[in-house]
Amino acid sequence: MLSRLLCSLLLLAGTVSVHAESIHAFQYGTIDALLAGAFEGDLTVKELEYKGDFGIGTYNRIDGEMILVDGVAYKAKSDGTVVVAGPSEQTPFAVATTFKPTIIITENTPCTLKELEQLLDVKLANLNGFYAIRLHGKFKQISTRAISPQDKPYKTLAEVAKTQSVFNFSDTSGELIAFRSPPFSKGFNVPGYHWHFLSTDKKQGGHVLSLTLENYTVSIMPLFDIDLKIPNNALFANSNQTIDRAVELKTVESARKGD
Ligand code: ZN
Repeated sequence: MLSRLLCSLLLLAGTVSVHAESIHAFQYGTIDALLAGAFEGDLTVKELEYKGDFGIGTYNRIDGEMILVDGVAYKAKSDGTVVVAGPSEQTPFAVATTFKPTIIITENTPCTLKELEQLLDVKLANLNGFYAIRLHGKFKQISTRAISPQDKPYKTLAEVAKTQSVFNFSDTSGELIAFRSPPFSKGFNVPGYHWHFLSTDKKQGGHVLSLTLENYTVSIMPLFDIDLKIPNNALFANSNQTIDRAVELKTVESARKGD
């Protein structure tokens, strides 16, 4: 009897620990620091990969867009190429998790980015929650951007984004790596959906500006536990994170060249 009880408790403990691991995400830096121009962090790609096999972010000096998938950190650069980031490269802002989806949605109806987000908003149980999202699909069209490496003294991200490179891909297949963060995460993360793209051949990528999907499968993982680490440097310490940067963020997230 005692041994059976003990066994049940152990099984329960095991279940809880697996569950706790699967709902956990790690974030490095804050979006407001990035918007303010704090473009350097001390967390390496190797350290980030230890925190999860799935994520998005950027690299020091805003040198391209990060797509962390299946344990490999890719860098979509402003020259249009996609490379694997070196383990000692560093990031000022990134989010990562060990991706274990619990919700799967398959759709064969074409949709735009806005329509995709509206559909997901209907499907998600908790719009005040965090989600990691992975979408495999066929893209009729997708526009991405990447920013070239910046030099000190750094400008704000909104200023820098005016010089971003925009890439338009058509009839391609690949995946979207994303997080959805709730409205209360303003200042800390990007409220709403934040999508990065990587093509199946790993040659196209970037931060998503617009898209038209032909068909897709979305895998979703609710997150209930966010572990935050902040850069231990003067740039972060001196960045002005007291002002409301919501308008700047909207500009940066959707900005197209020349806007
Ligand atoms: Zn992005």
